[in-house]
Amino acid sequence: MDLPNPLSHAYLIAGGSGDGRAALVKRLAAAYLCLGSNPPCGQCGPCRKVGLGIHPDVSYTVPAKQEITVDQIRALRSDAYIRPNEGRRKVYIIDPADAMNPPAQNALLKVLEEGPAYAAFLLSAARPGMLLDTVRSRCELLSLPPEEPRPDPALLDRASRLAELLLGGDELACAQALVELELEKPKPDQLAALLSAVEGQVSLRLAQNPRRGVRALRALKACRENAVYHPGAGHTLGWLAAQMF
Ligand SMILES: [Zn+2]
Repeated sequence: MDLPNPLSHAYLIAGGSGDGRAALVKRLAAAYLCLGSNPPCGQCGPCRKVGLGIHPDVSYTVPAKQEITVDQIRALRSDAYIRPNEGRRKVYIIDPADAMNPPAQNALLKVLEEGPAYAAFLLSAARPGMLLDTVRSRCELLSLPPEEPRPDPALLDRASRLAELLLGGDELACAQALVELELEKPKPDQLAALLSAVEGQVSLRLAQNPRRGVRALRALKACRENAVYHPGAGHTLGWLAAQMF
């Protein structure tokens, strides 16, 4: 994402993943303090310090226990009236901002609105709707696109093994794997996720055994579409095996 230019004094960073928001927050913090011509340059002293998390003019407010309390925001507020240590700005990162309880949010309002010109605020929130309208309206919103769900490595691994077996044509090994799976009594959504991952894996390896691959894809698809899996999906996998051999 291109950073806004010029920078506003307060941003609400919402959407995306926690990592995505944290990365954007860091870039913005560096941009406030950067001495290069195209902030954040990533090379100058301030940029590096922000990258390493050691810039004295960047501070994080994180939940003390479950939430960010009014005392924490009061402390932030008093600190904001002390001039920067070495940079041109002081950057206050509140993450996750939606962990601020309502008194804390109210305490933040005044400094958001009338804080010193050098103070900048970066509020990161997965659930920006938890923030008071008054807080939200004092920040510019930067929305990250929703993140792609990350495939579960264990699921992928299993799908890949099942795909190998379906394509390999060793009936016994295949039946064994399906019986094993059956005995685990997967929930319908787990089974659906696995079957669709197996479909993906079979498609990737179709060249390995096109005839069997096409049959497997058809069987997997039918399994999915006919919703053969249901609570106590006892027959799904047997059915799948029957389609294959
Ligand atoms: Zn820089």
